Amino acid sequence: MIDDVAERLDDVRERIRSAGGTDVTVLAVTKGFGPEAIRAAVAAGCPDIGENYAQELLSKRDVLDALGDRVRVHFIGQLQSNKVRQLVGLVHRFESTDRTSLIDEIARRAPGSHVLVQVGTAEASGKGGCPPDEVPSLVEHAAAAGLVVEGLMTVGPTEGGPEAARPGFRQVRALVDRLGLEVCSMGMSADLEVAVAEGSTEIRLGTALFGARPPRR
Ligand SMILES: *Cc1c(COP(=O)(O)O)cnc(C)c1O
Repeated sequence: MIDDVAERLDDVRERIRSAGGTDVTVLAVTKGFGPEAIRAAVAAGCPDIGENYAQELLSKRDVLDALGDRVRVHFIGQLQSNKVRQLVGLVHRFESTDRTSLIDEIARRAPGSHVLVQVGTAEASGKGGCPPDEVPSLVEHAAAAGLVVEGLMTVGPTEGGPEAARPGFRQVRALVDRLGLEVCSMGMSADLEVAVAEGSTEIRLGTALFGARPPRR
C-alpha cells in the first residue's frame, strides 16, 4: 500500500493540473499510518506531512528526528490547548487554530509560530473551525499575539459529493483574498478538483496517496 506513493503522487499532480492548478502544495496526510508512510512520502518527493493527533504525532518522533529538515509537519487535526506544549519543536505550522484560547497557548509555548486559521463553513459543521464572520478578528488576535498567520484552512463536508464543498471553498478563498493572506488550504482526496478550481494553494491528501486508512484504535 505504502510502496507506490511516488506513482500516486504523479497521478495526483496530474489531477491538480487538469483542474487548472499551477502552484498547489500537496500535504501527505499520514494519520492512521505508521512512520513508514512519512518516510515513503518524503522519499517520493513530498516533504510536507499532515498529522491530526498529538499522541500519534509524538509516537512518530524518531522518524521525524531522523529526517530532520527534510520533513515539515503540518498539524491539521482538532487540537486541545493542553497538548500544545508537547508539540513544540515538532510542528512546522499549526493549521487548525480556530479559537483565541488555542492561539494564546501556541503563542505562549511556541512564540512566533506559523499558523493557519481554520474556518468552519456552514456546509461542514462539526469539524472544528471558526465561523466565517469571526475569522477577521481571530486573524487579528493571532497576529497581535505574535503568531505569523499565513492563511486559512477549511474542511469540506463529508456528505453530498465534491460539489457540496464548492460554496464553502469559494467563501474561504474570498476571505483569504480580503485579508491579504497567501495560503488557502482546502481540498482532500475526494474534492481536490473543486478545491483547486476554487483557488486552493494547498491540498491535504491521505487516501489518494496511501490507500484506505486502517481503522482508528
Ligand atoms: C484526514 C484528513 C485529510 C485527508 O483526508 P483524505 O480524504 O484521506 O484525503 C485532510 N484534511 C484533514 C483535516 C483531515 O483530517
